[in-house]
This record gives sequence, C-alpha cells and structure tokens, in this order.
Amino acid sequence: MQKYRFLFLLLSLGFPVGFAQEDVGAPRLLSTGEPIDERFEDAVRKRYRGDVRGAIALYDTFLGENPRDVAVLVSLGAAYWELGELKTAEEWFKKAQVVVPRHIKASQFLGKLYYDTGRFREAKAEFERLLTFEKLVPDVKGSAHVNLGKIALVEGRYRDADEQFRAVADSDDNGDRATAEKGRMMGVRLRRTLLWERISTPHLSIVFSPGVSKAHNQAAREQWAKEREAAYVAMSKKLGVDMPGPVPMYVFADNVDAYSISNQEDVHSFRYSWWFVWTEWGRDAGHDLAHQLASRCRGSRPASQMLVEGLCCWLDTDSSDPHAQARGLVRAGKMRSLVDWHADQSYSLDEARAGAESFVAYLIERHGLESFLKSYVAYNLVRLNPEWKVQATGQYRWADALTEIFRAGIGRSLAEVEAEWLAFLRG
Ligand SMILES: [Zn+2]
Repeated sequence: MQKYRFLFLLLSLGFPVGFAQEDVGAPRLLSTGEPIDERFEDAVRKRYRGDVRGAIALYDTFLGENPRDVAVLVSLGAAYWELGELKTAEEWFKKAQVVVPRHIKASQFLGKLYYDTGRFREAKAEFERLLTFEKLVPDVKGSAHVNLGKIALVEGRYRDADEQFRAVADSDDNGDRATAEKGRMMGVRLRRTLLWERISTPHLSIVFSPGVSKAHNQAAREQWAKEREAAYVAMSKKLGVDMPGPVPMYVFADNVDAYSISNQEDVHSFRYSWWFVWTEWGRDAGHDLAHQLASRCRGSRPASQMLVEGLCCWLDTDSSDPHAQARGLVRAGKMRSLVDWHADQSYSLDEARAGAESFVAYLIERHGLESFLKSYVAYNLVRLNPEWKVQATGQYRWADALTEIFRAGIGRSLAEVEAEWLAFLRG
C-alpha cells in the first residue's frame, strides 16, 4: 500500500461562532496538507455524509493489507468515536498503542476519551504518560497540560491546575492558550468556594453557596443531594451510559448568586466542555445534570441547541406532558420550522424548550432512542460537510443538511419528519 497521511480528527469544533471553545468531543476533519491516499479521502467523504460505517468498511480493507498500520488503527478508533461506540473506540486506540506504545495521537485520543466519559483517574495517567514521550512539539505538550489542568480543577487541586495551565504558555495553539487562561480564571473563582458546605454522593461532589446553606439546613441539603444522585443514576440508566465522576455540582440560590463563581449569566447553559454543573436550588432535580449526560453520552453532542435541550428534557425527571406547550404553539401558528430552529440559534435554551421537548420526545417515542441518537451523533459530521454551503451566496442549505441528518438515524427526510410531528401535535 502506498504511503499516505491520514486525515486527523481533532477533538474540538470550530463552529458555530460562540461555541468554539465550549464544545465537547465531537470531531472535526482536517487535512494535514500532505498528499493523501485517494481511498482515505473517500473514507472522509463518507464520514461527512454520516456514513461512518461505510468509512469503517474501507479502513477494514486497509487493515487487511497491513494489520499493523497504526494510522488506520487510530482512524478506526476515531470513527467508532463518531458513531458514539466509545468502548470500541477505546479498544482501537489501545490496539494502536500495542503497535506503537508511544504513539502521540493514540494517547491524545485515549486521554480525551477517558476525560469525556468522566474517567478522570485514567485520563490523568494517560496525559501524564504522554508528557514523558520524547521530542514532543509545544502544541502537543500544551494540549496535554490543558487537559491535566481541567482534571485538576474537577478534582479541586487548584494549585496543580494553575501550574498545568501556566505550562501552556509555550504552545503555538491559540485555542489552547485561551483555554488555559480561562482555566486559570476558573481556578481563582473556584478557590473562593473552598470553605463552602459540601456533600459527596457516589457520582456527585456537591458544593452549596453560602446563600443556599443559610436558607436550607443540613437535613434539607442532604435530601436535595439524595434526589440529585438518584436523578443522575436514573438518567444514566435511561441513556445506557456509565460515567463514574464524581461530577462537581455547584448549587446557588439564583443566577445572581451564581455569577461570581460561574461567570455565566444563566446557569442554564449550552456550554459544557468543562465538567462543571452550575444549578439553582429550585430547579428540577435532573435538568442541569442532564446537560452533562446529553453532551457526552455518545462521545459528542450536536451543535444544535434544540436537539440538546430536547434530549435533556426527555432525560430529566420532570414527568409533565412534553407536548402540552408545543400543541399550544402549533394551534396559535407560532411554532418555528425546523430549518428556522437551526439556521438562527440565537434563542435561549428556555425559549427552545417547548418545541425541543416535544420534537425530541416525539422522535424517541415514535422511532426509538437508538434511531434518535444515530441522528444526534451524525449531526456535526453532516453539518460540517462543505457541500451545504452555496459559495456564490454564502447561504447554508439547512433543509438538505437536516434531511441527511434525519435520514442517518430516523430514516426520514426533513419534510417527512416535520410533517409527521406536526400532524401528531394537531391530532
Ligand atoms: Zn436545558
């Protein structure tokens, strides 16, 4: 087989504006600029169409020619990650490490996979091991330090976090340097919570703001923590995921109380690349935790506020009718079209709720969770296909992209999916 460079998948997304530093997992295809085996390009084209299985079949034929081709082994890991089959992805990265024990990309992917699935101890060990490799370029070192800093923050080791983030200064990667700077600021804010009341449960490390502790006594806080732990376990089971954690969860009286620590105007947010759950005492037991699970359950989450919010509503423990509000909107002629929900995502998650909650619940009730999740994980790959952009006008062909996204999992075009859902709501 001729020598080729394969297309690396990066673990951060560059779209849409505003989400760039905040995304979780989802891969991006990037050419290394060197000559590429045409069949590899074919595999990448398939992935852009959401046909990851087709790409895997191609990689399998490459492997038939050379079972120890480490680039193919790593590509297979990345492809299974894109499918959301994280256990299989892990196995392929480990097979690559058997061939080349100090393979940089395999180690980076594996470390990130551990981190994204809440396996912090293993993630830390992998990134520390990576830093012992010889001749690492500053970018690789920098991203390992960023990840070690993030883990240290989650575990409350603020001095170590600060050292890790400082070590990113030499990196040529602007994104990593910006993340490190943000991490240092987060560390400064989180240090202020060191003396706050805390309760640990098997999966959560819960920290109460002084305002919350003053208003609710120890017994009430224990009950609150018990309900969140139960919600986390129930939601993990519903999704079929196991994220050991513990997940840090900060509880505030309201958004104003939260701001000085979270630096977010609203605790209900679309940002989750850091393992921090900000919440208000009075919110539904599961909802803010659902955001972590919905973001990570299949290795990434779509850059679609509507689909993510909808899955969170389906997951959380709120048992009210998910379609009640949507029916009202449809009757009043005020439901946005699915293209519109995706073309302009300047709305808040609270605004998204009525349409999103009903739409996702409908898809899961009608087509099953697995079919829905297939479209959910296909979203980013298909969304990034350059084909959808009309060069002359700069416009994005949302209807075509969404059709391909829904076909990949639900097996329906956009028009079919939308018509069925609206007919159900009118029914
Ligand atoms: Zn939400």
